[in-house]
Amino acid sequence: MTNKEIPYKIYLDESEMPKAWYNLRADMKNKPAPLLNPETHDVMTAKDLAGVFCDELIKQELDDTTPYFEIPEEILKFYKMYRPAPLVRAYCLEEKLQTPAKIYYKFEGNNTSGSHKLNSAIAQAYYAKQQGLKGVTTETGAGQWGTALSMACSYFGLDCKVYMVKVSYEQKPFRREVMRTYGASVTPSPSMETEVGKKILAEHPGTTGSLGCAISEAVEKAVTTEGYRYVLGSVLNQVLLHQSVIGLETKAALDKYGVKADIIIGCAGGGSNLGGLISPFMGEKLRGEADYRIIAVEPASCPSFTRGKYAYDFCDTGMVCPLSKMYTLGSGFIPAPNHAGGLRYHGMSSTLSQLYDDGLMEATSVKQTEVFEAAEKFARIEGILPAPESAHAIKVAIDEAMKCKETGEEKTIVFGLTGTGYFDMFAYEKFHDGKMTDYVPTDEELQKSFEKLPKM
Ligand SMILES: *Cc1c(COP(=O)(O)O)cnc(C)c1O
Repeated sequence: MTNKEIPYKIYLDESEMPKAWYNLRADMKNKPAPLLNPETHDVMTAKDLAGVFCDELIKQELDDTTPYFEIPEEILKFYKMYRPAPLVRAYCLEEKLQTPAKIYYKFEGNNTSGSHKLNSAIAQAYYAKQQGLKGVTTETGAGQWGTALSMACSYFGLDCKVYMVKVSYEQKPFRREVMRTYGASVTPSPSMETEVGKKILAEHPGTTGSLGCAISEAVEKAVTTEGYRYVLGSVLNQVLLHQSVIGLETKAALDKYGVKADIIIGCAGGGSNLGGLISPFMGEKLRGEADYRIIAVEPASCPSFTRGKYAYDFCDTGMVCPLSKMYTLGSGFIPAPNHAGGLRYHGMSSTLSQLYDDGLMEATSVKQTEVFEAAEKFARIEGILPAPESAHAIKVAIDEAMKCKETGEEKTIVFGLTGTGYFDMFAYEKFHDGKMTDYVPTDEELQKSFEKLPKM
C-alpha cells in the first residue's frame, strides 16, 4: 500500500475498539518492585491498601500476571462517547520538515478534560461506585486530572474532592471552574483542612504548593472520611493498565493499514500516557515478536529518568503514601518556579522504571523554551494547539524526523499527543513575550534531594 492511501485520520469502528485492557506486567520477566509500607518496609498487601484505594483497583494494582482485564460494559459505553481517539498521519508536518520519515500521532485531546486522563478517571470512578462509596479525593497539578475525575464522578454520581496545587489554583482559574461545573469541590493546597497541610504551611509559610504535598492532603482526607477513597491519575500500575487503551487503539489502527512503527515517543510525567501508548508494542518486544525504539521525553527541569536515582522513595511530600521503587529526584524535589510545562512529578511509574532500568526503553530530556518552539511550530502546521506536556513528545518526534532527513531513512515515528493547551495560555504568553527561561537543576541540588531518600 502506498502512503497516500493512508488517510489523514485513521479511526477505528466501534466494533474494533479494545474490549480489554492489557497488563504489560504480565509479560515482564523482571516485575516492577512492590509497594512497601513506609514505616515497617514490609510489602503492602491488598489489606494494607484497602483504607486508601478501592478494592477492585487494588486487585489491578497488585496483579503482575493477568495479561488482560475485561473493560466493564459501562466504561465501554462512556469510552464510546469520546473514543476511539484518532491516529493522525501528520502529512503536513512531514511536508514542512521535508523529511522522508512518516509521522503519526495519537490525539487524546478530544474530550472536555482535554487529555488522556479521562481514560483512567472513568475507570476509577466506576469501581468506586461499584463498591458503594460516597466519593473520592485526589490532587491535581495543572488541572487536567482534576477535570477528568470531576467529569467521571459526575457521570456516576460520586462526590469529588480535589486538592489543587495552590500556584495552579491561582494561575488556572478556568480549570478550577470547569471542575466546579462538574460538581467537584476544589481546595488550594496546602490547606488548613488537613493535618499534613497545616504542618507543611507551618514549615513553609507562603509556599505555593506541590503535587507531592497535595497528594498527602488528598490521602489524609480519604482515610479520615467515611465512605471515601483516594484516587490517583498517574504513576500507579492500575492507571497504566487503563491507559493501555491508547496503545491498543494505536496498534489496531496501524495494523489496519499494515504499518509497522519504528520509533514510539511519549512525554513522561508519572508515566501513564507513555506506559499506555507503548504497552502492546512493549509487550511484543518483551515476548520477542518485534522490536521498537521507545523514547520517554521529560523536562530538563524535572529529569526523573535521565538524572534520577532508581530507589525506593515516598510518593508524596508528607510521606504518608507507600514507598515505591522508581526513578526519582527525591520526594522533596520541586521544579524551579519558572517551570511552566507540566510533567513536574518527582518520581516515575515503577513499571516504566523497571523497563528503563532493563534497557528496554530510552529517555531524553528537553528544555522548556525548545518545547514551546516545537509546540508553536506544530500548532501552525497541524492546527492543534498542544498541551505543553504533549509538546515534549512533539519536540523529540521532530528531532527524530530531522535525523531521518539527514540519513534518508524512511522511519515510521509514532508519538502521543496527550492533550490540548487551551488552559496553558499563561505559559504560552511567557514564551511569546520572550520571558520564558530554562532552568536545569545542578548536581548539588539533586544531591541534596537524594540525601533525603528513605534509608532501606
Ligand atoms: C497529566 C498529563 C501528562 C503527563 O502525565 P503522564 O502520567 O506521564 O501521562 C501529559 N500530558 C497531558 C496533556 C497531561 O494532562
